Amino acid sequence: MRHPKVSDCVEVFDSLWPPALAEPWDSVGLAVGDPDAEVQSILLALDPMDAVIAEAVVLGADLVFNHHPLMLKPVKSVNAATLKGGAVHTLISNDIALFNAHTNADSARGGVSDVFISLLGIEGAQPLSPHDEADDSRRGSLPTGIGRVGDLDRPTPVRDLARRLAAQLPRTTTGVRIAGDPAATATRVAVCGGAGDSLFDEVRASGADVYVTADLRHHPATEALDAANRRESGLSLIDVSHWGSETVWLSAAAEALEAEFARRGFTVSLQHSAVNTDPWVERY
Ligand SMILES: [Zn+2]
Repeated sequence: MRHPKVSDCVEVFDSLWPPALAEPWDSVGLAVGDPDAEVQSILLALDPMDAVIAEAVVLGADLVFNHHPLMLKPVKSVNAATLKGGAVHTLISNDIALFNAHTNADSARGGVSDVFISLLGIEGAQPLSPHDEADDSRRGSLPTGIGRVGDLDRPTPVRDLARRLAAQLPRTTTGVRIAGDPAATATRVAVCGGAGDSLFDEVRASGADVYVTADLRHHPATEALDAANRRESGLSLIDVSHWGSETVWLSAAAEALEAEFARRGFTVSLQHSAVNTDPWVERY
């Protein structure tokens, strides 16, 4: 068994979360690093925050595999005195590569929303906002796209679903919140790991009784509830922590990576970051 190069790692990542699945506005792939450098250890994290990069330095990691991009918007300089430039300098001066799979990891089968909906015992869920099947570059054996929708085994009170999620997600300051009627029963569940309040049209079209996502804001939430009440179709919302909804995917990602590196004859150590990058730390 040999250690992969950064370029081998990129091939492995792209095979699991094809970059063609990323949204057009996104920034995914190798952000920092030398494709020819050898990789003995990889640190998996959600956010390229300074604390995560410092952790990678301390651990001697050769590559940080990240979900959220360091440079989503174009930068005009990597001056070390700036936030992004400082991160790039620390990474390069410690020979650490940085790669991220973002909306491609959300959309892929086995990706963020598949792992998230499986916490509710739903397997084989369909994309909430499917990719165009006519687009060859995105076609796979199963439909891909943002969010998932699927059916529970039996009608379940929304309150019980929220409790089930609270028991399985890491404990967070903002917790798990319900909007709408907690006693309403749900059969059809829509989810979107991370911020999902742009998908209410898709949620309505899917016929879901409950929508589980993160970062729900006042106006989109109240308007979605009113619209559902007016149609008498009923809709409840469950809001979880953005970090919590996505961090559960990292464990599944590590398992998939371990298998794929081994299949290709590579040995590499994979470690889940111990840094909690949920920004909320206290509530009163
Ligand atoms: Zn996210």
